[in-house]
Amino acid sequence: SSADQYAVFGHPISHSKSPRIHKLFAEQTGQNLMYSAQDVPADSFKAATDAFFAAGGKGLNCTVPLKELAWNYADRLSEAAEAAKAVNTLALTADGSILGDNTDGIGLLNDLTVNLQIKLAGTAILILGAGGACRGIVAPLLKQKPASLVIANRTPARAHTIADDFKFLGAVDACGYDALPGRCFDLIINATAASLSGDLPPLPAGLIARNGTCYDLAYANQPTAFVRWGIANGAAKSVDGLGMLVEQAAEAFYIWRGRRPATAPVIGLLDAERRSANGN
Ligand code: NDP
Repeated sequence: SSADQYAVFGHPISHSKSPRIHKLFAEQTGQNLMYSAQDVPADSFKAATDAFFAAGGKGLNCTVPLKELAWNYADRLSEAAEAAKAVNTLALTADGSILGDNTDGIGLLNDLTVNLQIKLAGTAILILGAGGACRGIVAPLLKQKPASLVIANRTPARAHTIADDFKFLGAVDACGYDALPGRCFDLIINATAASLSGDLPPLPAGLIARNGTCYDLAYANQPTAFVRWGIANGAAKSVDGLGMLVEQAAEAFYIWRGRRPATAPVIGLLDAERRSANGN
């Protein structure tokens, strides 16, 4: 029988690592599937998605700028997708309806707690940025019972809106970057889109607690501006979002195939490849 079809839609999409990751998962678990990348701008999302499922497609990942559109497209939503108001995984279900899920939050949590062995209970967490990625990670972080969670954003109103939406799960504070001097955090997560263009929010010295961690949701072949800031400012660990990328893919794979691939070998392989591409 022919292989089941999956894809990632986004714009731009040419540098996506998702086809590679899902090919490695499929080989590892002996699953017969095809996973392609398709450049889909927002204005053709509905037509492209209708066509994909009409042609027998089984599941889609959706990335920038399609996650809100995918949230609207889904017939049913998981609890995570409902809370995040964004969908990164669409799955054809047995009754023919399309389930929308969001695996970004659990992907980050798995990378932090399993791969990096970071304990979140009782810690002080700071999220920089209040866009779609922030919205996807707040609920899973709060469920770990941190001592405090603060969202700082260039536009403070957006941070306040997210804090209000999630306060039923635990205490969340919101502020602008001007409120950060004098505070310090065990875990600082960069959820802004600034890092990839080499920019950083204005971050004061002393922001990272002793033994603290910096985590950039963005990932690149070179260390991002935020990863470099974390190293320069004394973080015990300062890493980018490659692990989260692989972990969110593994959760999507599990939703589609009912099999959980091992992520560590895939993260290790992709990390080794980018190190050798950088000549170190
Ligand atoms: P959005 O466009 O929704 O949000 C952008 C955020 O970045 C806003 O809070 C915006 O602030 C802030 N921002 C943008 N430029 C600057 C700047 N120069 N200085 C300060 N703040 C800035 O993006 P997403 O939330 O969708 O994505 C954020 C990042 O997370 C991206 O790099 C994305 O690649 C990454 N990501 C990684 C994943 C993974 O698997 N590793 C999964 C999902 C996302 P303001 O509100 O003031 O405009």
